[in-house]
Amino acid sequence: MPSPTRRRVLAAAVLLPIAPVFAQSRPLTCGGLTEAQTEGPFFKTDTPLRMSLVEPGSKAPRLLVIGRVLSAQCTPVANALLDFWHADEDGEYDNRGFRYRGHQFSDAQGRWRLATIVPAEYPGRTRHIHVKVQAPGKRVLTTQLYFPGDPGNARDGLYERALEMRLAKGEGSFDFVVEA
Ligand code: FE
Repeated sequence: MPSPTRRRVLAAAVLLPIAPVFAQSRPLTCGGLTEAQTEGPFFKTDTPLRMSLVEPGSKAPRLLVIGRVLSAQCTPVANALLDFWHADEDGEYDNRGFRYRGHQFSDAQGRWRLATIVPAEYPGRTRHIHVKVQAPGKRVLTTQLYFPGDPGNARDGLYERALEMRLAKGEGSFDFVVEA
């Protein structure tokens, strides 16, 4: 026969609600890896390390994009490389210098932040931002980000809804899910 004390402990163990264990305190936005897209003809290596691509004197509308780099298990990926490039306010890429090109690394929480301008469309393409994302030592994801509601989206065969940023009042966000 268990002692009264032991009986009480057993009863308590049965009656105690099981504490829920949440691995994540936020909705799961990850799971599937972010879709890859073509690099296009204008990628350049050796871009400057910078989080702002805004050119002094540019009158183009500003755009701030923030987000995270996550693994397929929804864990933040620190020190991921993010290399961005996009067209300028006239729809041109800088192929001589590094205007609207720059790389950065995600912080300890996997966060990144890009201050730039809204790129213009150029013939054949809807508005987009190119990016390469790479967790340390892992494969490079090459993809493109799109602008929700842009009239050019429907006319662009490369456009993918899953690669749209969330966008409100000049602020965009996107979480990349990469091999990590
Ligand atoms: Fe492009």
